[in-house]
Amino acid sequence: MNAQYIMALDQGTTSSRTLLIDRQGKLIDIAQKEFTQIYPKPGWVEHDPEEIWESQWDTVKQILNNNQISLQNIAAIGITNQRETTIVWDKSTGKAVYNAIVWQDKRTAPICEQLKSEGWEDHVKSQTGLVIDSYFSGTKISWLLDHVPGCREKAENDQLLFGTVDTWLVWKLTQGQSHVTDQTNASRTMMFNIRNIDWDSELLKVLGVQESMLPTVLPSAADFGTCTIDGAQIPIAGIAGDQQAALFGQACLEPGMAKNTYGTGCFMLMHTGSEIKQSANGLITTMACNWNNTPQYALEGSVFIAGAAIQWLRDGLNILDTADESEQMAEQVKDNHEVIVVPAFAGLGAPYWDMYARGAIFGLTRDTNSNHLAKATLESLAYQTRDVLEAMENDSELKLTMLKVDGGAVKNNYLMQFQANILQASVERPENTETTAMGAAFLAGIQLKWWKTEDIALNRRIDRVYQPEQKADYTDSLYGNWKKAVSRTMGWLK
Ligand code: ADP
Repeated sequence: MNAQYIMALDQGTTSSRTLLIDRQGKLIDIAQKEFTQIYPKPGWVEHDPEEIWESQWDTVKQILNNNQISLQNIAAIGITNQRETTIVWDKSTGKAVYNAIVWQDKRTAPICEQLKSEGWEDHVKSQTGLVIDSYFSGTKISWLLDHVPGCREKAENDQLLFGTVDTWLVWKLTQGQSHVTDQTNASRTMMFNIRNIDWDSELLKVLGVQESMLPTVLPSAADFGTCTIDGAQIPIAGIAGDQQAALFGQACLEPGMAKNTYGTGCFMLMHTGSEIKQSANGLITTMACNWNNTPQYALEGSVFIAGAAIQWLRDGLNILDTADESEQMAEQVKDNHEVIVVPAFAGLGAPYWDMYARGAIFGLTRDTNSNHLAKATLESLAYQTRDVLEAMENDSELKLTMLKVDGGAVKNNYLMQFQANILQASVERPENTETTAMGAAFLAGIQLKWWKTEDIALNRRIDRVYQPEQKADYTDSLYGNWKKAVSRTMGWLK
């Protein structure tokens, strides 16, 4: 039978999805299944590793059924995944020793404080590109080894394996034959030395993690193993963490090219080529997809509250019924910029890093109405994006002329036009906003030699490009007001 498709497994935080892509790079079908979020205590977030796997495999079967094809029709598998989420399992039984500890989980904050007080910040920053934070996998493994009975001893006897979700899925797909990850996922563990491209022995020691637990790290397009389920023989040929996969799927392959994903939060990544750029402006350095056996790097900045602020308008203030309505509301008061909303509901992320900041609305007058609030909230996404982008330009000494966008909020035309105005750069929205899964599919297709990197750009059809429609003097003055508003929210809880 003809193996004419690539399957992209997109394992996200709230759902598992499988996408079917044909030889021309065309998206044929998507299947999706949600799974359970487990909140055992405030600040703790877990997933059941078996449910992650079962929901993922279920969507694979749905795709096969819906399209009347079999595993024999699949030429290769690409994987993209929620990053940092940590799973530890028993090598011989294949059973997880505990639930997956999700990236959002804050239980290891005290371990992070301890590491900081011991002076590890500089080493972590210079060798892993990261800040010490419970977000990353390293302290989550330490916690598991210290808190799950018998784990420390088993780890010392080389009986346990660690993996991020990509590693876990490959282990399942290969029926325990491959224990591997790629460089983008490894660079989120706070244990991977992005200079030597190897696990960092000093950090392993301080975190108390046995090297025998860790997966082999490969480039993002590589031979990760063979899926042998139900007699299949499908190479797993591409892996990347979700944000890096989106960077690749958006064809940002050269220094200075950047993408911003507007979802619950905003995640912006700028490619910096094969050079490590260390941030002096509150960003982290991470590995980008390595498709050509040359390590690649990116600067990353995350904004905690973006689309979530639109959800707040809907569910908290009840001033709109659907997120889409915000566009029309903003258009009603288009040229009025008196009101500024700073959605620092959970403090401020990059580049401010102020956990004591809280949200505020500025510039209210007697005639302020719900349309002004909707418009100002949308604009806050664009202002926060400029905050991160300026930090990136300063760190990289590269000037950005075009931002590629994706994520749920990019269908909002008001937001996209305002974004182009505020950045004084063009904003490019692709037709297919499934950039994350497409990135994983392209990695697999490049490894198969179906495609070259040039094909990613050729395959990407542009829906719309927004050009700045206002003068820089004017938009700079608006941005100045935003900065003033942000400064008034900082340190609020102190
Ligand atoms: P995630 O992957 O983080 O769940 P998505 O990429 O699915 O997020 O995007 C959903 C987010 O986009 C929600 O927070 C929602 O409020 C926002 N959103 C959806 N449609 C619009 C719109 N038309 N205008 C502004 N925001 C929107």
